[in-house]
Amino acid sequence: MSMKLCFGMSLDSTYYAWQLVQRIGFKEPAISEEVVLDYLHLGIEYFLGSRFFTEDCQDDEDTPGNTGQLPLLDNELYRQSSKLPKKKPPKPIDAALRGNTVWVDCEFPRERQRAATCHEVGHKVIPWHQDLSYVKDGCIIDPTTSNFGREHKRCEEEANRFSAHLLMPRPFFLEDMNSLPFGIEALEILARHYATSIESAAIHYVSLTTFSCALVMVEALPESVITENGSWLRVRYSKGNPFFDHFIRPGAEIAPDTAIAQASLMSPGTIHTDEASGWVLGLRPERRLILHCRPWGKEGDVLVLVEEPRGNQGRLF
Ligand SMILES: [Zn+2]
Repeated sequence: MSMKLCFGMSLDSTYYAWQLVQRIGFKEPAISEEVVLDYLHLGIEYFLGSRFFTEDCQDDEDTPGNTGQLPLLDNELYRQSSKLPKKKPPKPIDAALRGNTVWVDCEFPRERQRAATCHEVGHKVIPWHQDLSYVKDGCIIDPTTSNFGREHKRCEEEANRFSAHLLMPRPFFLEDMNSLPFGIEALEILARHYATSIESAAIHYVSLTTFSCALVMVEALPESVITENGSWLRVRYSKGNPFFDHFIRPGAEIAPDTAIAQASLMSPGTIHTDEASGWVLGLRPERRLILHCRPWGKEGDVLVLVEEPRGNQGRLF
């Protein structure tokens, strides 16, 4: 990959997001992705992931009758996928960038489509992304961006950060964030205001706040999995900010008699806040944490905003 870099050019992908916000002249959220696409003369097309990436599609090559039901029959993405080796169905993607057209899976929630669209805009705008060839085959906007090579992973993270900073411009977001008390209610209000998912708002919030805190996304284990301590939950991923000097390990199991496990059984939208010892998240037991929990995502999954009370880190005076 050749890097089209010039002297004095910013290496921070979020710089290009803010530059775009200013050039278009957005004065407040929510940022309209349609306006962004228009400004950059980019088109948008939609595909249906469930039809595109199922095993059925793989058998369709020689039976055009089957593909007749597919609204994507004539699009290049579909034709490409039907040429792939049959044994391995293509990986589901959120979006792809082909020439001046952004392709988006329209079966995902609206907020995720917006994030995916702006992720592709990032590949178009960030100077050293302009020769990336994989974007035509698609991107997955999962915050864990696993299973990629290092270079690929770095570019995907940059595009994700670009997308977050385009939809939630830092100067706007900081002002709104600082006007609200710390907690999950703030995440809900910000997500509504910026038309993003609560998860995206939470990642952004944790990265920008000066409170020592972390976001922990907890997932329910498949029912077939039996654990030693009767746990049915594990950490999918965590993102702490620089003030939070612990690492919450992905895969860590959550014990059944904890605030997080209780929240996983509550109805969607319930916020459950409790104090806990660090052991709940695999940290040192003497660490006191405040866990703000809210069922989010598929059934049993929990979004946890972990707050470290001030004074917990050892006093300077
Ligand atoms: Zn990408």
